Amino acid sequence: MTSQIHETAAERAFAELDAYQALEAKQQPVWPDPDAVAYSARELSSQPPLVFAGEADQLRDRLAAAARGEAFLLQGGDCAETFSAATADRIRDRVKTLLQMAVVLTYGASMPVIKVGRMAGQFAKPRSSNDETREGVTLPAYRGDLVNGYDFTTESRTADPARLVQGYHVSASTLNLIRAFTQGGFADLRQVHAWNQGFISNPANQRYESLAGEIDRALRFMAACGVDNTALTQTEFYVSHEALLLDYERPLTRVDSRTGDLYDTSGHMLWIGERTRDLDGAHVEFLSHVRNPIGVKLGPTATVDDALRLIDKLDPEREPGRLTFITRMGAGKIRDVLPGLLAGVRDAGATPLWVTDPMHGNGMTTATGYKTRRFDDVMDELRGFFEAHREVGTYPGGIHIELTGDDVTECLGGSENIDEATLATRYESVCDPRLNHMQSLELAFQVAEELKK
Ligand code: PEP
Ligand code: MN
Repeated sequence: MTSQIHETAAERAFAELDAYQALEAKQQPVWPDPDAVAYSARELSSQPPLVFAGEADQLRDRLAAAARGEAFLLQGGDCAETFSAATADRIRDRVKTLLQMAVVLTYGASMPVIKVGRMAGQFAKPRSSNDETREGVTLPAYRGDLVNGYDFTTESRTADPARLVQGYHVSASTLNLIRAFTQGGFADLRQVHAWNQGFISNPANQRYESLAGEIDRALRFMAACGVDNTALTQTEFYVSHEALLLDYERPLTRVDSRTGDLYDTSGHMLWIGERTRDLDGAHVEFLSHVRNPIGVKLGPTATVDDALRLIDKLDPEREPGRLTFITRMGAGKIRDVLPGLLAGVRDAGATPLWVTDPMHGNGMTTATGYKTRRFDDVMDELRGFFEAHREVGTYPGGIHIELTGDDVTECLGGSENIDEATLATRYESVCDPRLNHMQSLELAFQVAEELKK
């Protein structure tokens, strides 16, 4: 009897969720074989969840603290993860980079830092054009490893639903390693020096070393005083990605046996991109039915009305931590646009978490054809974000950064002064340019200064 009632409730929940199927879903691939998509969906539905509902709830609580100005969100990782780069070393270096940034921010701001990777599922990309043409040959655009391959051949660019299942398995092994690193002693604060090892020595690393020395002394002091520091031996680390590809997200959405609510178990936090945030579109409808913490990117054209209608749809109860607005305005616009948005939302009595993505409004292409960003523009947008919040009296709740632990040369500037000619030496991103390890640390030091103000 009980199980029948549960079945009915679950069926009802899924029927409500599936309302999205009648709506326009932008940025979806054209799969050549619908039967193969259905096969992958069944395969995904039979797999265990990647994350548990209780973890998503815990992250929502943490984000609620950030929305109250009592914590700070650090969200970062590749623009587009790739299956081939999901190796132990590269995952470790990205985790280390985020842990180092978190230490710099925590120590600088004396505030808990919530660590969320753009990891273990960031495999699908929106594109400005469906096709790409090179030397007279036109093929489908690369939409992320969850859809097709980056190589410019017909075979690789054809959307392949088997990749949905492969993406699940790569996400599972990535998440497993993240859990091992962050729960198994690697993230122990007493390892604060070790995280720096293996990275090329540079001014940001030296500055980090001296901060790590201070932390060491503080830890020894606490130990000498008899303070139990078990809380410092493990760290919470969450994963997130853009919930773009609904053929992947839907089969991974499950009923939480504790509450009967739906959770998208592909990641702890999911966000909706700037190009798919239409109120009447499939993505907003879909995510309105799951209980995970949700992000929405807001570009420079977003109005107060857009923001309020998104709040009504995605967070009607105005539950703290449920909704994060990730603004990506561009350094030249943020000071004009953001204060009005913050004030309008505040005046309506809503308290979403406000986070800045200082990457996506600052893209440029060099004469030699590299997609890049200037470190100075990124920093300028970051400062504009803090200024806007100080002006309006709201909380600057976090940063969303495209970064890698590798010493790539994809963004211009930073203290290494990467110039246009240098971009070619190690440009590895298959999508947007990422800050390298050193630029990421530099950015963290500068954000810590803003947080101290
Ligand atoms: C991204 O985060 O990689 C992205 C495409 O961002 P946006 O939706 O803000 O353009
Ligand atoms: Mn990007």
